Amino acid sequence: MSPVYDRVALIGLGLIASSMFWAIKRAGLAGEVTGYARSEATRDTARRIGLCDRVCDSAAEAAEGADLVVLCVPVGAMGQVAAEIGPVLKPGATVSDVGSVKRAVIDAVGPHIPEEVHFIPAHPLAGTEHSGPQSGFAELYDNRWCLLVPTEGSDPQAVARLRALWEGMGANVEEMEADHHDLVLAVTSHVPHAIAYTMVGVADHLRRVTESEVIKYSAAGFRDFTRIAASDPTMWRDVFLNNREATLDILGRFTEELFMLQRAIRMGDETYLFDYFTRTRAIRRGIIEAGQDTDAPDFGRVKGKPT
Ligand code: NAP
Repeated sequence: MSPVYDRVALIGLGLIASSMFWAIKRAGLAGEVTGYARSEATRDTARRIGLCDRVCDSAAEAAEGADLVVLCVPVGAMGQVAAEIGPVLKPGATVSDVGSVKRAVIDAVGPHIPEEVHFIPAHPLAGTEHSGPQSGFAELYDNRWCLLVPTEGSDPQAVARLRALWEGMGANVEEMEADHHDLVLAVTSHVPHAIAYTMVGVADHLRRVTESEVIKYSAAGFRDFTRIAASDPTMWRDVFLNNREATLDILGRFTEELFMLQRAIRMGDETYLFDYFTRTRAIRRGIIEAGQDTDAPDFGRVKGKPT
């Protein structure tokens, strides 16, 4: 494949950026990839493992002269990083991001992007519970969705180029409006994480009552919650604080449904429970049919390989 961009800069070198780097290299999508992370320790690790063609000591140095700059830092840090790189951006370049929330990122980053630079937010719907520069792998985006969220007046050619990059990295690309994105993701990702965090918190309190039984007899249901609840605390703090409205809306609906389920259990309402679980089972089947998961036992998890 011929390069889509001459120079790509990745700001933040964690799971998402390192996976992008390996996927870009796998398909030869960029001439050179520069990178920057906040701590010296991460930059040293990146240099040691060959993550990025050139690791720079400031965000501005990495972004200077780049044709595409991708902000891969936690949502709460996007504005500050954009302010740092704004003055050195090359006219005609594109700035994108991978943040899990879109409206707050647009509001924080937009004001720092010069007139002659394209700003095209994005969000790859792929991840694991691991973080840091060593957690990435080239296949992370294969057959996963990447949502592009063009802002008002986004240049169609610049959008098409960014789409080509994500497709080259293996993703299926679609465009979505920012507020709609935040609502959809509240349902499919943010509230499920909130529920997992809560359930693991409940078990943690209970553990003090039952000693180690919660861990010792940990069954598949609980284990899956703990995997989700092991996700990066900074990232998830920022997701909830920056998608407050949609998360609270969906949590409210969740609480109502939970009360109805609670009532059905108390009243011994067999029909309600059976019908409810039949409907939810069909949703699982739909996800498998759409190729977004496998129906192998234990979610097809291979020992040692993140899913
Ligand atoms: P990560 O593995 O924790 O890496 C975050 C990186 O950002 C680290 O290199 C960190 O540097 C750097 N960083 C943090 N604050 C910074 C700042 N103020 N200035 C410069 N660099 C800073 O995170 P990730 O999982 O790759 O997530 C990155 C973004 O992708 C987030 O916005 C997240 O919402 C989004 N996202 C994540 C997933 C997922 O499942 N993980 C999926 C889709 C989208 P240090 O190492 O030096 O601290």
